[in-house]
Amino acid sequence: MLRGSKEELPRQLATPITVMKCEVCGTEHSRPHQEQDFVFKKLKSFCPKCNAETEMVVVSIHVEEKKQKT
Ligand SMILES: [Zn+2]
Repeated sequence: MLRGSKEELPRQLATPITVMKCEVCGTEHSRPHQEQDFVFKKLKSFCPKCNAETEMVVVSIHVEEKKQKT
């Protein structure tokens, strides 16, 4: 019997981060995850290095857990 724990993650405590890569200069940028984001999705976003709006590819989506201060 499988005991899945997928639904038990404390989602509200975690902030998903979308990492995307500029197709022009290859620089990686991250921003807070948006619902429609998925890996390999192409987005138009402003690249501070190119100083222009470029096409970016989502390379990873990960969750940054809030660190508890002790
Ligand atoms: Zn760029």
